[in-house]
Amino acid sequence: MKHCNFCNDAIIFGGVRDADGQYCNSRCQDQAAARRRSEQAMRANKVQAIYTVQGVAEEMEVFDDKLTITPKGALGFMVKGLKGTKTILFFSINGMQYRKPGRLSGYLQFTIPGGNESKGGLFAAASDENTFMFDAKVDDVVIKVKDFIEKRIKEGRQPAPAQTASAADEIRKLAELREQGLLSEEEFSNGKKKLLGL
Ligand SMILES: [Zn+2]
Repeated sequence: MKHCNFCNDAIIFGGVRDADGQYCNSRCQDQAAARRRSEQAMRANKVQAIYTVQGVAEEMEVFDDKLTITPKGALGFMVKGLKGTKTILFFSINGMQYRKPGRLSGYLQFTIPGGNESKGGLFAAASDENTFMFDAKVDDVVIKVKDFIEKRIKEGRQPAPAQTASAADEIRKLAELREQGLLSEEEFSNGKKKLLGL
């Protein structure tokens, strides 16, 4: 049985492949490529993390557009085995679950396509590669991280500002109207000032 190189779902029939592996569809392929580019850029630029948080068995690093979870120490090895650093791009996050640390560890769990986060309670959470477990002394930072990621996801969903292009288009339209004699020079120049925010 073949599995998708991005979401790990079984590929029963069809799928797409490239030099780096096999995927369910072009959406998974695109997301895998984006993740690879982002990892390459990070290595090339030695980008500094905005937050670095030590968890119970992992270290979490948070960047402008992604976070990484790296198993640390003997416990990290026990619960996550030889899984290396897991990179989660903000745009692929469908949801986040936060549990405040108390008598038990807290956790921050990320729902991403193909993730296995909701299957089987706390022990499953500990071994889930999309979950960061932590204790009370880093709770403040984890809350900041959670707010930061929520904010970045919200910003990412807003359409990119295209103000300059659309203002230029509008001015061009006004110029056409002037050429056709439908606008006076003064009306044109007032409209242009308005569009340029002058
Ligand atoms: Zn897939």
